Amino acid sequence: MQTIIRKSDTDRAAAVMADRDAMRAGFDWDQALAMLDGLPDGALNIGYEAADRHVLGGNGDAVAMRWFGKDGSVRILTYADMADLSSRFANLLNDHGLEPGDSLFALMGRVPELYAAAIGTLKAGMIFTPLFSAFGPEPIRTRMEIGRANVLLTTGALYKRKIAAWRDQIPSLKLVLVVGDEAPDGCVALGPALAGASPEFEVVHTKPEDRALIHFTSGTTGKPKGAVHVHKAVLYHAFSGRNALELTPGTVYWCTADPGWVTGTSYGIIAPLVNRVTMIVDEAEFDLERWYQTVQREKVQVWYSAPTAIRMMMRAGVEAARPYDFSSLKFLASVGEPLNPEAVVWSHQVFGLPFHDNWWQTETGGIMIANTRAMDIRPGSMGKPLPGIEAGIVERQNGTVRTCAPGEIGELALRPGWPSMMRSYLNEQARYDKCFANGWYLSGDLALKDEDGYFWFVGRADDLIKSSGHLIGPFEVESALIEHDAIAEAGVIGVPDETAGEIVKAYVVLNPGFKASGELERAVRGHARKKLGPAVAPREIVFRKTLPKTRSGKIMRRLLKARELGLPEGDISTLETDET
Ligand code: ATP
Ligand code: MG
Repeated sequence: MQTIIRKSDTDRAAAVMADRDAMRAGFDWDQALAMLDGLPDGALNIGYEAADRHVLGGNGDAVAMRWFGKDGSVRILTYADMADLSSRFANLLNDHGLEPGDSLFALMGRVPELYAAAIGTLKAGMIFTPLFSAFGPEPIRTRMEIGRANVLLTTGALYKRKIAAWRDQIPSLKLVLVVGDEAPDGCVALGPALAGASPEFEVVHTKPEDRALIHFTSGTTGKPKGAVHVHKAVLYHAFSGRNALELTPGTVYWCTADPGWVTGTSYGIIAPLVNRVTMIVDEAEFDLERWYQTVQREKVQVWYSAPTAIRMMMRAGVEAARPYDFSSLKFLASVGEPLNPEAVVWSHQVFGLPFHDNWWQTETGGIMIANTRAMDIRPGSMGKPLPGIEAGIVERQNGTVRTCAPGEIGELALRPGWPSMMRSYLNEQARYDKCFANGWYLSGDLALKDEDGYFWFVGRADDLIKSSGHLIGPFEVESALIEHDAIAEAGVIGVPDETAGEIVKAYVVLNPGFKASGELERAVRGHARKKLGPAVAPREIVFRKTLPKTRSGKIMRRLLKARELGLPEGDISTLETDET
């Protein structure tokens, strides 16, 4: 892609990280450590850094959260409120005999109690594991079993519908807390319990390497893994939140991700609170008008979202955005899936600012590669590694690796050592060991690095298509398809073919106003052939109402493929939409 969106000099001066190269050159982790207060004797606690220290520093009145309920209610929490509530929550856990190292699972929507509980759990030295509230009973049960849950925080309705029937099968589970003033049998109501708990709590002096968070991966490529993170990760949350997302004290920031997904915790709870921003939290799910209104009304300055939402905005068109005032926005970022170049250019037109793509994984705990505010953007590229991060493109070769040349496709790899790297996969040592070779952490994603050091995503290693001697990444084909006026979204897979090895097949969702027809299919194929050439363009195009996606919004190509080939669907615990 030739387009470059350049930053003006004034923008550069205003960015937190004005000169990435200079910062990288002189970087060491003490710079990140200096952003935190720490505790005596080298102790470090995420919850303390996120809430209590701001109160001790005289910033208790700063607003931590402006929350908007589905029913129109509004709640404002200051940092003092957050410290108070989280201390009460920590005391409540202690009062029930729970101890540092015990594990709490949260299964609930985006309500303030969830955020206070996350911080309170960490302050108590316990391990916090968020789940999507929309998970079915079985995915909840298996995850709680693997994570040996001691406490579950949920709602009465979710408990009755999804948990009560099998609760006794989790012997480790000692306490079920439900939000509100009443609780089903065998559960404790959070409202009165918090009101009765003391707001004075001495934060547990956790060591940097003590376990803090367990995040389950999205399950895009297979059975989800439980990635274990430690308190030291907060160094990287603080640092990357500041430098990659422009989170400075007082910034009005909206991360649209649910805390059930790592983005919604690392950058939806921890990084913003540690950086003392004002978070916007919306309990409701995506709704275009509501989202645009929220940005306008709350004067959102930094907006962190995902390609699936951005494509939905694009689908509604420029017209839908026109009535709103987006002048408060100063930085837009996206993560989770490749951000199609079309989406970058579109957002630049509509918001006056492009969405900046960044790349990371549950395993990395934080943003590794990013388009930052002071960088020129090459739409379609994930950007460059942040200070402190060494990334490379390598090829595995019998237990060792070879570094690829610029422009060559290989596996995206990182040099371990940054603070928020996972420390293990729960109960899956072999799967964890497979991620490392020759001093590299291997991500399982394919990418290339251009001559100027920009990284370009190609596809998941499992999704690569081999057709008549060509290696084809689905992202390239999907991006070309959505440039066609009729196409809103595309998922591309390879299907076996006797002569070509594999042929490219696309599943597409249409924009409003377009109807599936043989004629449209031919037109889209023609468009793709012109953009990509006949060897790479899809041979077959199927129109669908939706594409199968994970709850974190990622297209599940493996499922499209399994269904195409009549193979078992595998683990579909994270599947969200699925309509043909
Ligand atoms: P699983 O590991 O269970 O299959 P998952 O990899 O989707 O699920 P996450 O950790 O939530 O689980 O997602 C990380 C992955 O998302 C990355 O490895 C990459 O494939 C994809 N991803 C994230 N950000 C980007 C991006 N900016 N561009 C392209 N791909 C991205
Ligand atoms: Mg993964």
